[in-house]
Amino acid sequence: MTDSRRELPSVNTLLETSGVKYLLDHHPRRVVVDAVRSTVESARVAGGAPRTEEQWVETITSAVQQASRPSLRRVINATGVVLHTNLGRAPLADSAIRAIEHIAEGFSNLEYDIERGQRGSRYSHCVGLLRELTGAEDALVVNNCAAAMVLSLNAIAQRKEVLVSRGELVEIGGSFRIPDIMARSGARLVEVGTTNRTHDDDYRREITPKTAAIVKVHRSNFTIEGFTSEVSVERLAFIAAEHGLPVIHDLGSGLLISLDDYGLSGEPTASTALASGATLILMSGDKLLGGPQAGIILGKTEILAKLRQNPFARAMRVDKLTLSALEATLRLYLEPAQALKEIPVLAMLTESLEEIELRAHGVVAALRPWKIEAGVESSRASVGGGAFPTAEIASSAVVLRGDAQQIEERLRLGDPAVIGRIAEGRLLLDLRSVLPREDAALAKAIVKARS
Ligand SMILES: *Cc1c(COP(=O)(O)O)cnc(C)c1O
Repeated sequence: MTDSRRELPSVNTLLETSGVKYLLDHHPRRVVVDAVRSTVESARVAGGAPRTEEQWVETITSAVQQASRPSLRRVINATGVVLHTNLGRAPLADSAIRAIEHIAEGFSNLEYDIERGQRGSRYSHCVGLLRELTGAEDALVVNNCAAAMVLSLNAIAQRKEVLVSRGELVEIGGSFRIPDIMARSGARLVEVGTTNRTHDDDYRREITPKTAAIVKVHRSNFTIEGFTSEVSVERLAFIAAEHGLPVIHDLGSGLLISLDDYGLSGEPTASTALASGATLILMSGDKLLGGPQAGIILGKTEILAKLRQNPFARAMRVDKLTLSALEATLRLYLEPAQALKEIPVLAMLTESLEEIELRAHGVVAALRPWKIEAGVESSRASVGGGAFPTAEIASSAVVLRGDAQQIEERLRLGDPAVIGRIAEGRLLLDLRSVLPREDAALAKAIVKARS
């Protein structure tokens, strides 16, 4: 043992110091003891042990803080990708947050019919709003859009065949491949057409007595260009009707109001998709709809009743916090202007470039007293989350001078973490995906990272 090792205080001695006693009063004992042990251990292994009691307490305090941080934490999304699946997709509107809080605090009528004083159904919530907003006859909310797909296929096509175009056998994200999901639902997938071209007759040719449905998957995260053709939902509905088959349209994004006026066109809204004749529409709650994670199924009452009775419906059921947030989000759509303003995803996508530039200059101005070199540059943001795959949205970014890799890491490891994007060796913090109320926190995080 070297001299410096012998000088290390024991764990018990440190636990007796007033600073560590204070920690013990405010944190679980095991967390504090672990922090003391690991601090002593790392001083033993790596050297550089704190010299004074004060320094020991400081190091132990930061170890306790580190260990007490929740695993799921707030992040400032400065990537410029508004719907970032890795960053939790849609932030919620204020009214949705309040609704969650209100319902979480106490009991609720989740499955209780207050008027009748008897058992009710969790599936009754949100249905009225979804009908009104989309024109659907009925609606069912489940855990997410992938669950909606599994449930729909299991209820309609178990041990039967479903037709899908080869151009739509897509991977949506990490572990969500349409063909895999479909196979797990118990339906047999029959591929029709080719990757770039699928025609009416490709579907017609494969329809047999075993066919149970035609599935249309919206190409949400890519486009196919060049020599292409696909069969529209209108045509599919026509072909399916000749054989009494349902058409399931996996729409993905869940756009409820058109964003054409904001330069974002080509993504079908739920009501236009329904009007095209699909039997079932499937969509996510936390993409362009701007609500909580959920899968929404729209269609006729008769077929949705069948889905509700399916055992998978129970396994994929939505919880009360989700329902409360979804209902509050949907309610905002009753006044589209209000939805555009209050639903963060829509507000971000439709905010004017001038406004975003102003905010970027505001952040840079807040850095000036700290002598941090930063500038404002134009940037290209995107929608993300599997919608408008090729759309680029004019945006504005704060660019920090200096070693991009190093600044990126310091911002990412800070609290709150700031996630930016490095382009051509420079770190860009794109303001389109930052909530305006986070601008001050972003400036503060930059100051911290550069100090
Ligand atoms: C995103 C997406 C899904 C998956 O939705 P989750 O809600 O994440 O399960 C399914 N289909 C399409 C077309 C999508 O874009």
